[in-house]
Amino acid sequence: MTAPSTSRDAPPGVARPREEAGAGVGSGPSTDPDVSARSAERAHAEAPVPEPRRRRTRSEGELRALAEEGQRRFGDARGVDGALAVLRWAAEELGDGVAVASSMANAVLPHLAARVLPGVDVLFLETGYHFAETLGTRDAVAQTMDVTVVDVRPSLSVPDQDARYGARLHDRDPGLCCGIRKVEPLRAELATYDAWVTGVRREESSTRTGAPVVQFDEKHGLVKINPIAAWSWDDLVGYAQENSVLLNPLLMDGFPSIGCAPCTQRVEPGADPRSGRWAGLGKTECGIHT
Ligand code: SF4
Repeated sequence: MTAPSTSRDAPPGVARPREEAGAGVGSGPSTDPDVSARSAERAHAEAPVPEPRRRRTRSEGELRALAEEGQRRFGDARGVDGALAVLRWAAEELGDGVAVASSMANAVLPHLAARVLPGVDVLFLETGYHFAETLGTRDAVAQTMDVTVVDVRPSLSVPDQDARYGARLHDRDPGLCCGIRKVEPLRAELATYDAWVTGVRREESSTRTGAPVVQFDEKHGLVKINPIAAWSWDDLVGYAQENSVLLNPLLMDGFPSIGCAPCTQRVEPGADPRSGRWAGLGKTECGIHT
């Protein structure tokens, strides 16, 4: 059965007004995701707290113990069998407390998760700045896979952000823009789950070479599972071809790493896959994995 996609907005008031933020036109750009995340978190702490639509089922101590057990058992996970084994373990231990995060650069992770966690929530950070191809991939995943695609949206629409901070904040302060549109909405969403599954692969960048298969995510306070951490690019494409899994068409058009359209450029063959992200801005991560 294929579930329809749903949409969840971040709690109101997570972004700072310009006068409180000290950022925006005329301010020095911040590419440090932690700085912007802290700013958004401060504003969030002052905002009314809405009733959560779901709650974690395990204490922090229980989740830490589970993360340690998972890494002990699956730390060397390789290939498809390894990825399915750790996902099966997560399904048995945490059931619908597990969410999958997907940038919709490809549908490999949702496909793997649907095999052992049918109907699983697939969180898509709907920043308002995605390529049409990425939104098309999201829609196709929602229509064809046994998952529940959830659009996680920031509290500010793009026009509202423009009105508050000035147009094209991503060019002037990508750290703040990512904080508002990605980091804070994801933080709020993950607060309701026990584990999240990501598509982080070690070979993607120097910041990801040490990514474990299972860890306790100190930043978000839950178990983080990277089932394809050891996969190569060829492993990813091979799985997609063997299983007729969707790939974002941009992947084969010079975009080996796909983020928001204003911050993603085509790269030359053989270049660092992530060199097209925030090119020239001294930023390499949006802040959700750091
Ligand atoms: S990737 Fe660019 S447009 Fe997207 S949230 Fe970050 S700075 Fe903003």
